[in-house]
Amino acid sequence: MPGASPPNEADLAPSDGAARDVAARVPAAASAGARGAARRLAGAFTVDVEEYFHAETLRPAAAPSAWDSLESRVEGAVDRLLDILDERRTRATFFVLGWVAERRPALVRQIAERGHEVASHGYGHVMLDALDPAGFRRDLRRARAAIEDAARARVEGYRAPTWSIGPGTAWALDVLIEEGYRYDSSIFPVRHDRYGDPRAPIVPHRLARAGGSIVEVPPLVLRAFGQNLPAAGGGYLRLLPFRYTRRAVADAVAEGRPAVLYIHPWEIDRRQPRLAVGTLRALRHYAGIGRVEEKLVRLLADHRYGTVAAIVRAFEAEEASGTPGDRRAA
Ligand SMILES: [Zn+2]
Repeated sequence: MPGASPPNEADLAPSDGAARDVAARVPAAASAGARGAARRLAGAFTVDVEEYFHAETLRPAAAPSAWDSLESRVEGAVDRLLDILDERRTRATFFVLGWVAERRPALVRQIAERGHEVASHGYGHVMLDALDPAGFRRDLRRARAAIEDAARARVEGYRAPTWSIGPGTAWALDVLIEEGYRYDSSIFPVRHDRYGDPRAPIVPHRLARAGGSIVEVPPLVLRAFGQNLPAAGGGYLRLLPFRYTRRAVADAVAEGRPAVLYIHPWEIDRRQPRLAVGTLRALRHYAGIGRVEEKLVRLLADHRYGTVAAIVRAFEAEEASGTPGDRRAA
C-alpha cells in the first residue's frame, strides 16, 4: 500500500509551531490520533540542506572563507528532491543550514510552501566540539533568524553538523533547551571515528537536563553482531549495497521503532565540481552518487515516511498516555 493512500493529517500539518504546541497539550483524542498516524509511518525522511562544499570531508579543499566564491549547487538538487517527495506524496523534514537560508531564502520558502517541515542545521557548519556554549548559541540564533525569516514558519528541531552531539558535547543539549527547541536529531547511536555514542538509545527518547528536557530522535541503525551499525542514509546509502539499508528499515518497522533516514542534496548531484582532496576523502564524498536517486525512490516506495515533528508528536502522545516504552526494541 505504500504511496497508495493519501498522506495523513499529522503528516500534512504545516510547519506551524503554535498549532503543534496546542496539539501537544491536548492528551486524549488528539494523542490517540497522533499515535495512530505515526504508527502508519515507517519513520521520518530528512534532508540536511547544505552545499557540497559544506561537507566536513571536503573542508581541506573548501575553507569557509572560500565558500562564497565556489559554485552554488544546492538549488537544483533540492528541487529534484522536492519532486521525488511529491511523487511519493511524502512530507519530510529539511534541516536547513543558516548560511544557505541567508543566500537562498526563496528555496527555503519553497520547501515550506510544498508542505515540508523546516528545521535548523545551525549556521556555519562547525562541528560542536570546535565551539563553546556561547559560540553555539550565537550560531543557533543566527541560523534560526535566517531560516524562520525565509520559511515564515517556526523552527522547533535541530540537527548538528556531522552528528556532532555526543558524550563530549552534551552541553549543547542545555543550550538547545534554553533556546526553546522541542527536539534534537543529532546523536548517532554508533561507534564512528568522527561522531556518535554507541550507548545512546536507538529509539526516540526524552533527555532530561538540569534546565528542562528535549526529545532526541536518533537516525536509523541496523542491529547486528550485538552492535548498532549506521544505516540511515548519506554515505551508508551511497557506499553499501542497497539491501543493507532496506534490511535496516525492515527490522526497524518490524520492531516498531521509527526509521529516521537522511540525505544531503549534493548526494544526488552528479555534476558537482570535484574538489581536490585525498583518496579516502574523495571516496567518502563522491562514491556512489550516481545511484543514490534510484535508491531513494525505491526506499520511499517501500514504506511511508513523514516529518520528524510527526514522530515527536507521536512520542509525546505516548508519554502523555504513560506508554512511552511501546515502540522500544527488545
Ligand atoms: Zn551537514
